[in-house]
Amino acid sequence: MAFFWYNTQIMKWTKSLIQTLRENPGDAEIDSHKLLIRAGLARKVAGGLYSYLPLGMRVLRKIQQIVREEMDRAGALEIVSPILQPAELWRTTGRWDTMGPNMFKLRDRGEHEFALGPTAEEVFTDLAKGLVSSYRQLPVTIYQIQWKFRDETRPRFGLMRSKEFLMKDAYSFDADAEGADKSYWNMYHAYERIYGRCGLKAVAVQADGGDMGDSLTHEFHVLADAGEDGIAFCEGCGYAANLEKAERRCPAAGDKAEGSGFAEVHTPNAKTIEEVAAFMGLPADAFVKSLVYVADGTPVMVCVPGDRDVNDVKLKRFLGAKAVGLADFGTVLRVTGANAGFVGPVGPADASLRIVADASLRGATGRIVGANKDDFHLRDVDLARDTKIGEADFSDLVVVKAGDVCPKCGKPMVIKRGIEVGQVFKLGTKYSAAFNAVYKNDKLEEHVMIMGCYGVGVSRTLQAVIEQSHDANGIIWPASVAPYMVVIENLDPSNAEVTKVADGLEAELEAAGIDVLVDDREERPGVKFKDADLIGFPVRVVVGAKGLANGGVEVKRRADDKSKTVIAPVADAAAAVRAALG
Ligand SMILES: [Zn+2]
Repeated sequence: MAFFWYNTQIMKWTKSLIQTLRENPGDAEIDSHKLLIRAGLARKVAGGLYSYLPLGMRVLRKIQQIVREEMDRAGALEIVSPILQPAELWRTTGRWDTMGPNMFKLRDRGEHEFALGPTAEEVFTDLAKGLVSSYRQLPVTIYQIQWKFRDETRPRFGLMRSKEFLMKDAYSFDADAEGADKSYWNMYHAYERIYGRCGLKAVAVQADGGDMGDSLTHEFHVLADAGEDGIAFCEGCGYAANLEKAERRCPAAGDKAEGSGFAEVHTPNAKTIEEVAAFMGLPADAFVKSLVYVADGTPVMVCVPGDRDVNDVKLKRFLGAKAVGLADFGTVLRVTGANAGFVGPVGPADASLRIVADASLRGATGRIVGANKDDFHLRDVDLARDTKIGEADFSDLVVVKAGDVCPKCGKPMVIKRGIEVGQVFKLGTKYSAAFNAVYKNDKLEEHVMIMGCYGVGVSRTLQAVIEQSHDANGIIWPASVAPYMVVIENLDPSNAEVTKVADGLEAELEAAGIDVLVDDREERPGVKFKDADLIGFPVRVVVGAKGLANGGVEVKRRADDKSKTVIAPVADAAAAVRAALG
């Protein structure tokens, strides 16, 4: 006897708790946030905190399932670890103190300290230390899909920057560097499959390794104008890096002199490069922008061309500092002798002040710089002749911008916006060494395991799909993650014949593994169609008395316009829906 079990859940709109909204939420700045709320996928509980409503929950579950299947296919093992993490684990790596105010910290009634996990390197490393003893158990990758917490200063963009979010985090443990490399690329390719299956066009971009030095890491970004992150792309060779990391081939400095000779110029109240440039009638790149930073407590002057911005990440890396930030007014005045806006690399008040400069200023002559004296600039400055910036003080220190030359192939780059939906990261032994997470090799010698960590923002991916796939009428879900793949519009719910056709088609599609919502509301067709477009079911089937009399039901893809509507006889309706789903 054959036994079939279908994961069906016959669902009628009137029983679904779906509630669409006509008005955009007041705090929504981007389309996906507006649509998330208006389509009834989620509802705000407080700033940065959301309840996922039945429709949103279905999408979240589908994305989780794709992530889970691809992790399992890549050989990773699923576990779940506590959200509440003891401070001792974080103290082992020193991150209890360095994570800063983004981490939620609390105490239990016994005054023991805990964090609401923003990530779980410590927990997983400690776990692997306990579970792994021999090289025979390696490599191993462990993952979980768990809620994470971040005390965002300014939660915004709906699920994009929230205080609580669902994340898949995986951690790989290997015996050697070669194995760690394999684990990294194994996850990288799993991520390509995950985003592809979610219907997302995601690109992998090089990112900065942070405290991990030059460690290999890629971020996966969904390109969207509303994205918070800038990404430099080369269409010539495919180079892609986020703006923290992106490098450029340095142009020759050249001479910007207007032949006037080294001299002091009175520039009253002209503080910004734009103001001085306008005052002197010269282009911004004839100026050297000089900023005083403090790196791990020590002031340092940073010089870049007048039309460029300092890249703090590159600066931090170049200086080998743990933290860098702009100096306060008092420090600026003390070390240079002038207020911000009039500082420069020629003879600052503190002669011991270190001065570093962007590589594009190497050999620069004929530049205008602040005179370290309020209301004055110096013109026709030769950096080699007039400053103490030495060969070792030059480095690539600016934020790349459109038109900069690709470091790989020499073609001009473009800048696009992206939403980061995942990251793969080679950790090395930072965590395993701190926990002394070791294995024994075949000679019974102990070695520290080599780690990688890999995150997918599951709830963020949900909203990224909306951001990448919507139009003026609403969301256009890819079938793989749609709350329901098909909506059947029963235009005459009180008509027994129409209802029989609608419900019959629902049962047939559900039996074929296609999830369906039947809109059985006594509403005007216009209202029903508008809601269907807003929520964005991939395929809409219209069943009405008039249509049935005229030969069948209407099948239309959400992504297509009206002209592509197919009229299918009732007997062929399921086949037409399957064809429309592709
Ligand atoms: Zn290139």
